Amino acid sequence: MERLQKAIAQAGITSRRKAENLISDGRVYVNGNQITDLGTKVDPDKDEIKVDGVRINKEEKVYLLLYKPVGVISAVTDDRGRKTVTDHVPNDVRVFPVGRLDYDTSGVLLLTNDGEFANMMMHPSYHVSKTYIAKINGIPAQEALEKLAAGIDLADGMTAPATASLKKKDYGEKTAVIEITIHEGRNRQVRRMFDALGYSVLELKRIHLGPVDVKGMNAGEWRELEQQEVDALR
Ligand code: URA
Repeated sequence: MERLQKAIAQAGITSRRKAENLISDGRVYVNGNQITDLGTKVDPDKDEIKVDGVRINKEEKVYLLLYKPVGVISAVTDDRGRKTVTDHVPNDVRVFPVGRLDYDTSGVLLLTNDGEFANMMMHPSYHVSKTYIAKINGIPAQEALEKLAAGIDLADGMTAPATASLKKKDYGEKTAVIEITIHEGRNRQVRRMFDALGYSVLELKRIHLGPVDVKGMNAGEWRELEQQEVDALR
């Protein structure tokens, strides 16, 4: 924490003496509140400092990985009052989800306050690999897995080449577990790919997003991304 006038001076817009005048004149707001007291202390990495309505300190960029549980909306707020992914991360920095996982899908979800990073990751030309574990209501033949890999004709066009392998089959329950890796991020893509082959997805979990995974984590837990993970995603 440091004195507000020092934080303003260090942002490089004026001297400390002049910063004191800006504060006394009521031109400085911290986190939306007008501050006129020269003794006020702030944290320039966290607090939003505005002079004449313009933010003068840089916002620290935050990159979080949430192991999204099922039953949570990939949004900041929900008009139906359901839990959202931001309810599962600390609220001292405002972050938003990078893309989305369905309400009933669990696994790797990134949250950030870096709009440029989020836009890059959500752009259709960005092709990071996404690996899912899908439990389906049937036991597919090798031919079906080959179709998933070769491309499925969905309403919004053919899917790009993918990989799919059978991990488990349960003849009693008549279910199978498939690991599938895609390089696109269309809405409900994995569920629609299985639907097209006549299977329903009973459970879906994203275990990998490029170099990032939820190994060692439990559903509902979050961690900060390592710098090398952020760099590898760029
Ligand atoms: N594909 C889906 O069908 N759902 C998800 O949540 C993610 C990928």
